[in-house]
Amino acid sequence: MKKKDRKFKSFSFIFDALYFAILIILSLVIGALLNNIAYSLIIALFIFVLKILYENYKLEKIILNFDNKSLDNYPKKNENLILQINKNYEDLLSISDKFYALEKRFKELSDSMPDAAVVIDKKLNTEWFNEAARKMLSFEEIDIGRPILHLIRNPHFTDFLNSKERDFYVYFTSPQNYNMTIQCFIVPYAEDKFLLTFRDVSQLDKIDKMRQDFVANVSHELKTPLTVLFGYLETISVDNSMGFDKKIIDEMLKQAKRMDTLISDLLKLTKLQTTNIPDKKFSIINLEEIINELVTSFDKKSKINKNEIKFSISNKLYIRGVYEEIYSAFSNLVNNAIMYSEKGTNIEIQCKSSANGEIVFSVKDYGVGIPPEDIDRITERFYRVDKGRSREQGGTGLGLSIVKHILIRHGARLEVSSEPDVGSQFTCIFPKAN
Ligand code: ADP
Repeated sequence: MKKKDRKFKSFSFIFDALYFAILIILSLVIGALLNNIAYSLIIALFIFVLKILYENYKLEKIILNFDNKSLDNYPKKNENLILQINKNYEDLLSISDKFYALEKRFKELSDSMPDAAVVIDKKLNTEWFNEAARKMLSFEEIDIGRPILHLIRNPHFTDFLNSKERDFYVYFTSPQNYNMTIQCFIVPYAEDKFLLTFRDVSQLDKIDKMRQDFVANVSHELKTPLTVLFGYLETISVDNSMGFDKKIIDEMLKQAKRMDTLISDLLKLTKLQTTNIPDKKFSIINLEEIINELVTSFDKKSKINKNEIKFSISNKLYIRGVYEEIYSAFSNLVNNAIMYSEKGTNIEIQCKSSANGEIVFSVKDYGVGIPPEDIDRITERFYRVDKGRSREQGGTGLGLSIVKHILIRHGARLEVSSEPDVGSQFTCIFPKAN
């Protein structure tokens, strides 16, 4: 029979009853001989109670100080009870051995992780952290139980953890080392707990900054000679006294203009990505004003393409932002709507406030649409679904990237829904004004 299947029966009651019976009989005999049965019965009872108390005391001692040696001294009548306790004790030892092995393995695993890992509870108090958290975030044992926001003091990290609609990750500069950029991921874990992982992405960040600097420098360097060439070409196109082929000059002008737009868009995008908006540049923007300006400025272009721009706006909607940037984002969307629409279709601009107080601006067209597999990629730099159509229309492939970054700077987001040959809707969602 396997050890864990062993069942021990209890015989202690039979032992006690037998002992009691023998004691009573003996006391009756002695009492009869001494002619004092009452006394001898009382003495017998006293002996019995004393014996029970002593055995209880011994048993309690064995149970309280239980180890394998106790087994040698157990009272024989409690043999089965002790064997059962011993079996439970061994089972417990083997469970705790397994548990310690598991805990050791988990500790070795978590300590060998290059990323810092921290578990926090729903009140954002620190519950556990690994070895890398000690090194990267200077956590110490006494930090367990303390609010993580007291241990990592950074406004981006604080906003990230406090936000109701939290993103999956955030980047911030290490408060301990200003040269270190940290990427922090959050994952819900067990009930009401969160696992935070922190990764040092300084190298990636450095490479990304170098790439941005490179693009910005090249664009700056190209801008000056291009402006000179552009100037000469414009002069020749107005006063062609030297008799150049007009078609060639026009084509050169067209390409120079394209290059100029491309460089300007690249510079604009780099600026949007690398700088924050200074507080003094923010103003309260009346969206009706922006929409009226958009409709006026696209009047000519939409007429050429025979598109009718329809718009509807709920009364008095305002957002906080930089007017030129918001105008540029919206105008990119309207421009695209015209560019990728068939002749004679409508373009609908709508502005309203949503049920939860967000301000929603959308541009809807009934044009070529976007295949589902491309939707997630169209805000990447230079990503175009149809390169030919984009170039033919003078697109740079940077418009939606610019829109995305303008919205990010304003705490807003872009949502795209589209169906090929049916049309597209681009929606900018601005946070509730405080
Ligand atoms: P581009 O200058 O090429 O228009 P964008 O960044 O503005 O660059 O847009 C990226 C790509 O997304 C476009 O090339 C086009 O394929 C697609 N796109 C953007 N807007 C629309 C739209 N309203 N309808 C269909 N496709 C669109």
